[in-house]
Formats: sequence, C-alpha cells, structure tokens
Amino acid sequence: MSFKVRFWGVRGSYPAPGKDFLIGGNTTCIEIEINNNILIFDAGTGIIKLGKYITSRIKNNQINIFLFFTHYHQDHIQGLPFFGPIYMPNIVINFFGPKLAEKTLYENIMANMYMPFFPVNFEETLSKKFFNNIKEKDTVIIDENSNYRLSEEYIEKKRETKDKKEIIITAHKNFIHPKDGSFYYSIEFDGKKIVFATDIEGFVGGDVRLINTATNADILIHDSQYLPEVYTNKYYPTQGFGHSTPIIAADVARKANVKKLILTHHDPNSTDKDVKKIQTIARKYFKESYYAYEIMEIDLEKDKTSEFTWL
Ligand SMILES: [Zn+2]
Ligand SMILES: [Zn+2]
Repeated sequence: MSFKVRFWGVRGSYPAPGKDFLIGGNTTCIEIEINNNILIFDAGTGIIKLGKYITSRIKNNQINIFLFFTHYHQDHIQGLPFFGPIYMPNIVINFFGPKLAEKTLYENIMANMYMPFFPVNFEETLSKKFFNNIKEKDTVIIDENSNYRLSEEYIEKKRETKDKKEIIITAHKNFIHPKDGSFYYSIEFDGKKIVFATDIEGFVGGDVRLINTATNADILIHDSQYLPEVYTNKYYPTQGFGHSTPIIAADVARKANVKKLILTHHDPNSTDKDVKKIQTIARKYFKESYYAYEIMEIDLEKDKTSEFTWL
C-alpha cells in the first residue's frame, strides 16, 4: 500500500526560474500516487517533468492516470501541451474538472492546444481520453482495480463504512477566485485525508466551507502566495486577486485542526528568502507549517517528508 504526494510545480501565476528561486520555478502541479494510480492536480509547467517520470516507469507497469483541474487559468494548464503521456497511444487519461466560464472541461482544455497558439491540436494527440465534467460535491471513487465511478452525492454513511481500498476524491467550489471561482479537492484513502486548496483567498472568520472539508486532515495544501505587506500594499494591494497570505492559510489550518499545512502557489516575485519568511510567519499561527518545494515528497503511510529523485 502506498500513499504519497509529490510537488512538481509550486509557483503561482507564471514560471519563475533563476538563482533566487531554487525552491522551484514551475507552475502548479501536484501528484498523488496511490498504488498504481497517479492522481494529478493541475497541469502547470510542473506537469512536464512529471510526464517524464511517468514515461520512464510506464514500460513495465500499468499506470492509471486521473487528471483533475481546479480551474483553467494559464498557470494551471500551460504544461499540458508538453506532457508527454498525452501523445502516447497506449496511455489512458481520465480528465476531471468543472465547467467554468460557460465552457465544458473539454472546451477549456482544448482552447490551450489550438492553432495558432500551439502547432498540435488537442484532438490530434494519441492517448485515449475520457472527460468528466464535475460539479460541486461530486465524488469520484476509484476502486482497487482502478475503475472509477462518479457519485453525485457523497453519502455520509459511506464515509464511515467505506472500503479502505477505495480512493475517494470530492470536489468543492471555491467562491473567491476571480472571475468564475475555482475548485478544491479532498482526497481520502486508507483512513487518511489530503485537501488541496490552491487559488483561494479568505473570509472574515475563516472560510467555513473549507475548514469543514479540511477538518482533521493529515495534510492541507493551501495557497499562500503573498507576504502580508504585499497583500496590503498601500499603492498596489493584491487583496481580491484570489490568493492568500500565510496568516489566512494558517488560520484555516488551525481551525480545521489539520496535522500539517503545506504552503504553495508562491508568488513569482518571491525569492527563496521571501518564501522562507512566509513559512516563518505561518508558524507563528500554526506550528506545523511548511513551504512546498520541487520535488518534495510526503509519504503518508510513513509520515515522512523527503526530496524525491528518480533518475
Ligand atoms: Zn494560479
Ligand atoms: Zn487562478
């Protein structure tokens, strides 16, 4: 049994390479590996390297790919045209995402790979693809044979009696990201829970919906893009841009009583020093706060964090 989360892209807005950005310059992409299933959340440029990792292991193993989208802003889709597995005829990819801006999941993704913006049209890629538009509170259940089903309603009773071998992903709507919101996800397996909430801001008293979802989670991955002084800058405030400060993130973590808070979606203007400062601020409010970096791996079965290398 394995349950691991890896961070392939931890930057928000646009890629940020350079010597002051060693924490990671690629935009949002996280991977959750559960046995032979690879669950991917967002396709920022971090997904490009993940694609190489997947193709390096695919020869011997059957790997099942489930690709979820929080929303379709550039920093969450711009890596998809360079994600090797979409071109491979022997690969099956199950896509999940909300209908946003009055366009379906398929329409939103396709718009990213279309002439004249990219030389290969999305329809020409050879992998086998299945598209699942999801709504708030929809649940995706993946069984031990990697077959999945969509349940419109998460049944509380099932939560108590659920088969431990099933992976349960629940979609939640975030109402505070311009202009059409975004989704966040809870992922449960083997009695453990991860919540991935990027591109999210906050409310007075904390985001109660999110706090309820994240209650007692093992890991809360939360947007923490801005230093407080950037957020409230007198001349160019970033309030209302749909992103959080470490104080907003730590407040949710504390109220939800999570075990660990991982801070992500780092601002492209934030140097490594700034990101470390963000972690220090978060720790004042919630001790178990850590900044995400490439390629951080957390093994939930062993409760261990390390740097992931496969080459
Ligand atoms: Zn973003
Ligand atoms: Zn966004």
